[in-house]
Amino acid sequence: MVTEKTMLEQPAEAPAARDRALYVETYGCQMNKADSELITGLLAREGYRVTDRVDRADVILVNTCAIRENAEQRVLGRMSELNRFKTANPGLILGLCGCMSQHLGDRIIEKAPYIDLVAGPDSYRRLPAMLRALDTEDEPALNLAWDRAEHYLDIDPVREAGVNGWVTIMRGCDKMCTFCIVPFVRGRERSTPHGEVIRQIERLAAEGYREVTLLGQTVNKYRDGDVEFADLLSRAAEIDGIERIRFTSPHPAHFPDRLIEVMAASPKICPHTHLPLQSGASTTLSRMRRDYTPETFLDVVHRLRERIPRITLTTDVIVGFCGETEEEFEATREMMRTVQFDSAFMFKYSPRPGTASHKRLSDDVPEEVKARRLTAVIEMQKSISDTRNRAYRGQVVHVLVEGRSRRDADRLFGKTDTFKTVVFPMLEGVVSNAIVPVRVNGSTPFTLFGDVVKSA
Ligand code: SF4
Repeated sequence: MVTEKTMLEQPAEAPAARDRALYVETYGCQMNKADSELITGLLAREGYRVTDRVDRADVILVNTCAIRENAEQRVLGRMSELNRFKTANPGLILGLCGCMSQHLGDRIIEKAPYIDLVAGPDSYRRLPAMLRALDTEDEPALNLAWDRAEHYLDIDPVREAGVNGWVTIMRGCDKMCTFCIVPFVRGRERSTPHGEVIRQIERLAAEGYREVTLLGQTVNKYRDGDVEFADLLSRAAEIDGIERIRFTSPHPAHFPDRLIEVMAASPKICPHTHLPLQSGASTTLSRMRRDYTPETFLDVVHRLRERIPRITLTTDVIVGFCGETEEEFEATREMMRTVQFDSAFMFKYSPRPGTASHKRLSDDVPEEVKARRLTAVIEMQKSISDTRNRAYRGQVVHVLVEGRSRRDADRLFGKTDTFKTVVFPMLEGVVSNAIVPVRVNGSTPFTLFGDVVKSA
């Protein structure tokens, strides 16, 4: 049985945390990655040594995603694999954190009894106490308490190597889209105090980061007292050293002109917006409870492109949602044709237990119809992305170098401010975190290729 006592009592003679190696593995979105950095920072502060060798870890924490069922299945498979390390290290603690913990609760212990610790997204501050408790208790430690006041202030994340620093500015979501599990696993919406956000960005700048991404489920709904999202962006843009500011994911229903003006006014705010469409049919959007219509969505697109002509737009699309007719699906295709997104994440609807669509709507679009519709939108988007990327050929773009290309170690890759991935041959003196001019000489629907423009 799992008890509250398990995680709250601290044994008198717990082994020192500094003797223990911590390995954190992450699944899911950027917010999860940012949370993993937070967990690592919190436990490093307690003396845990961070390792990137899973086979040398004394504590393995897997930070999980619950958005799709196959993500959960994948994590369960991985937990079973990780359990094998207990043979060589019987004291190994295997823990599950994040959205899947919150979604499955103590059922996860029934499915995988070798899991020692389960912590929800609002429980990370309790991890040190939970880990200590496991030294004297045989029972797993579980904490899934909600805490609306938890912003994880004053915990400095330990960041993974990379050129982009993530700052979580909002946690949770109040939107309750009918297909989405997020409000049930991440709790109510709350904004991090703006002073803390600015402190974290200044710290990133001092550490040498040139690019920062502000994170939230509905990031443009940010509000701390009088400070709205547009104000926060303006203040972030004043910080010396930070040259690129991104944010994700905004909600299409929250794009006032003032926000677009701020985006247009600062060259530091990247001309790229991820604008989740989900469906192009007003009836489907209404069943999804998305708070906007195709017309208001197009109005945001129009206003963004009018004020920021260079802007790129990416999106999310769900096909085969409950009751989606052929006409509704065609409305989505028509919207994608009209907007000409630069790229899109496209999915077949699959119901998640606990959501409103699972409880109240019927998942009545046959699987083969969903598959056909998904193929159709993927093919169409590929062609649109190809055309949009071809338009870059001959242009000089500025690329923030991230490192070696995964496919070709003799090449580097990085991103433009418009969020295009660019691959180019290595050149002496060009290193990660540099911003270099690259002339684009080739493209696919997914990538631009080019050569560094050498200064005279
Ligand atoms: S806005 Fe909707 S889709 Fe996005 S996290 Fe909130 S409930 Fe989920």
